[in-house]
Amino acid sequence: MSNQFYRDTWAEVNLDHVQENLKAIKELLPKDTAVMAVVKANAYGHGDIQVAKAALDAGATSLAVALLDEGIRLREHGIEAPILVLGSTRGSDAPVAAEYGISVTVHNESYIEEALKHLKESEQQLHIHIKIDTGMGRLGIRTKEEMKDIEYILQKQNKIQVEGVFTHFAKADEEDLEHSKNQLMKFLLILHSMNSLPPMIHTSNSAAAMRLPDAYFNMVRVGIAMYGLSPSPEIKNELPVNLKPALSLYTRVKQVKQIFAGDTVSYGGTYEAKAPEWIVTLPIGYADGWIRKLSGQNVLIKGKRTPIVGRICMDQCMVRVDEPIQEDTIVTLIGTDGQEAITADELAEKLETINYEITCQLSYRIPRVYKTGGKIVDIVNPLFRK
Ligand SMILES: *Cc1c(COP(=O)(O)O)cnc(C)c1O
Repeated sequence: MSNQFYRDTWAEVNLDHVQENLKAIKELLPKDTAVMAVVKANAYGHGDIQVAKAALDAGATSLAVALLDEGIRLREHGIEAPILVLGSTRGSDAPVAAEYGISVTVHNESYIEEALKHLKESEQQLHIHIKIDTGMGRLGIRTKEEMKDIEYILQKQNKIQVEGVFTHFAKADEEDLEHSKNQLMKFLLILHSMNSLPPMIHTSNSAAAMRLPDAYFNMVRVGIAMYGLSPSPEIKNELPVNLKPALSLYTRVKQVKQIFAGDTVSYGGTYEAKAPEWIVTLPIGYADGWIRKLSGQNVLIKGKRTPIVGRICMDQCMVRVDEPIQEDTIVTLIGTDGQEAITADELAEKLETINYEITCQLSYRIPRVYKTGGKIVDIVNPLFRK
């Protein structure tokens, strides 16, 4: 069932592009720097299982998620590669993470105390990555003293094993890399204070992986660039790789009608025709993640830009076209049609947000169609997903 859908709106995910983007980034890295593919938030809306498998096939050696729940989902779908939870987890859930062989992020001493209590009965060891906050102001320890304390507790036990140590950059996607270099220095200072170094040391997100070779260590964590999107508009034109967006969003024309001067469109009648006009109804709305602020945004029909008019409804929205068109004509909301393209970047600019949020907000109502070599290889309808 979950590979069927019965509506005329869908996202297409080009898995070749996911793999090409990942390989292009790998090309930039020294041979001994591994790639961890970041597939949190359902792979930024693209579909976690499919992207994880494609990324591993293309040379990623591990995966990152934000939640333990997301990691468990990958395991339950047969994914055996190393998985790291980047976000916080409960010490009381340490046995669950250990049992699934999922590594967790540790950002304070109290987690370890709590985890050790709960791991007493556990057969499996828990693998952890210690997070250092070097200037993000989010999770992580900030001082050598905190690191000492953590090392002290850990040396007296054998239930928890340190697999990695890492930090996260706050401004690696900005023109000026000064702040990142400063973060790197703080990271090195704490690193050098450690009694022994764990096998995995990592700091870079996509932006740093493409711009800050000093921060490679032995692994980089690549998210947005794998999906073919620039970490920020600011650095888009100076990236060393030609990123190819993996996701397109399509719908179909459901009704075409003529309205006349004075007729209005949608709730509140905020759009009023000045003359006879052709209005097309599309089966996508804010419950699909096509939010109300996108009113006025262009879509592509037969290679031409045409605007959304009136308020976007929960399940539908309307666009104005110059001439009547065939029902069921394909409409491109994100992607290319002929010479024209609408990118996640364009939508992000319109919504005063970042491209990350555009793909993440595509909801559970949108079926995802996966293609490789131009052929459909998989379909996921999240509505039917068990
Ligand atoms: C999300 C995330 C990443 C990936 O960032 P991109 O900019 O998408 O490459 C890397 N590291 C951490 C800690 C993250 O939370």
